[in-house]
Amino acid sequence: MWFGLGPAERALQEEARAVAASVADIAAEADAMSEIHPGIREALRASGLSALMVPAAYGGRAESVDPLAVCLVREVFMRASSHLDSMFALQGIGSYAITVGGTDEQRAQWLPRVASLEVLAALALTEEQAGSDLKNVATTVVEKDGGLLLRGAKSFISNAGAADFYVTLVTEDAGLSLVLVPADAPGVSVAPSPELIAPHVLGEVTFDDVALPPEARLGAPGKAMRLVLSTLAVFRVSVAGAACGLAAGALTEAARHARTREQFGRPLLKHGPVAQLLADSWNDVEMARLLTYQAAAAARSDAAAALNRSSMAKVAATEAASRVVDRCVQVMGRWGLIANSPIERYYRQARPMRVYEGASEVLKLGIAKTLCDEV
Ligand SMILES: Cc1cc2nc3c(=O)[nH]c(=O)nc-3n(C[C@H](O)[C@H](O)[C@H](O)COP(=O)(O)OP(=O)(O)OC[C@H]3O[C@@H](n4cnc5c(N)ncnc54)[C@H](O)[C@@H]3O)c2cc1C
Repeated sequence: MWFGLGPAERALQEEARAVAASVADIAAEADAMSEIHPGIREALRASGLSALMVPAAYGGRAESVDPLAVCLVREVFMRASSHLDSMFALQGIGSYAITVGGTDEQRAQWLPRVASLEVLAALALTEEQAGSDLKNVATTVVEKDGGLLLRGAKSFISNAGAADFYVTLVTEDAGLSLVLVPADAPGVSVAPSPELIAPHVLGEVTFDDVALPPEARLGAPGKAMRLVLSTLAVFRVSVAGAACGLAAGALTEAARHARTREQFGRPLLKHGPVAQLLADSWNDVEMARLLTYQAAAAARSDAAAALNRSSMAKVAATEAASRVVDRCVQVMGRWGLIANSPIERYYRQARPMRVYEGASEVLKLGIAKTLCDEV
């Protein structure tokens, strides 16, 4: 059972806050971009915090990736800039299958450079016809001339176009497998994805008969889902961390406004319905944070065993963030609607979090099944 943050975790929060403060002047500009913002990349690189995403043996800070540490940093980063949060998160989400399923050579080749942000990582699962249902993946790998031949296309891939490698889900005779594809391999091309309501570095990746060496496989043929689940077990809860940061940031904006803006001769805060919106939102943030930290702390000791709790935290925190930010816009009246203001950015950025890394409805299926299995 988790009871609170210790000195090391509080120091990490301070470290992340210093990075967030250093990008305050470029956050709005970066969050409007669907390409990598060089200033954000440099701030993250200089911070050394990407080292949290790989084990100490490959340049990381801890013996293994610490889900609570990742969560705490994402909470601070998302509040400051979704671009910063996403760049940080992708270094882990895109590389973790190498950490758990790669050979020593693959780890040595890529992980130290992931830790130092010399390279950017990407995880390519989604396709036109395969979203929540990854069993539908149609990208194929066949063995040819002693190597592997990769053919197919991936859609809505974060970091596409900027990434240095794609950990890619494919289908083959043995079942679903993962392969590690260098971005500069002949036959790899990237086109932009549609612009989202909250811009994100996203692309459509095509693999046109990409020849790979046999050692490009991650793990055993047909055993991809084990590696994908390991990745989700460590990183799904970090989306909850980011959602808590977003919700808390929105609430701060609304609370400041409610304290100073007067209507009918008194501050908005003194109008009962407005006070209720704020109080309900604070409750939501605190409940989401408790569940998130608890799930992340449980994932530290056994991430796979804590996956259901991580799913609960992800659903609770992302749904809470949407409720909170919607109420905050309401409290701020017309000032809540100004394009590219902090509150309007939070409003747009909250929405995709309920869809990616497991849509709420899909995660609830697993949560309900676990509940019924346990009673
Ligand atoms: C900002 C962003 C970044 C992304 N980055 C990546 C990335 O880096 N790599 C990657 O591989 N993908 C990425 N994706 C894609 C993302 O993983 C998918 O959008 C997600 O898996 C959902 O798939 P889908 O959009 O095809 O929705 P669908 O699977 O078509 O589902 C649509 C809706 O139907 C409902 N639904 C679906 N199945 C069920 C079910 N069994 N039970 C109940 N309800 C259900 C849910 O409400 C769901 O929201 C990204 C998406 C976004 C928006």
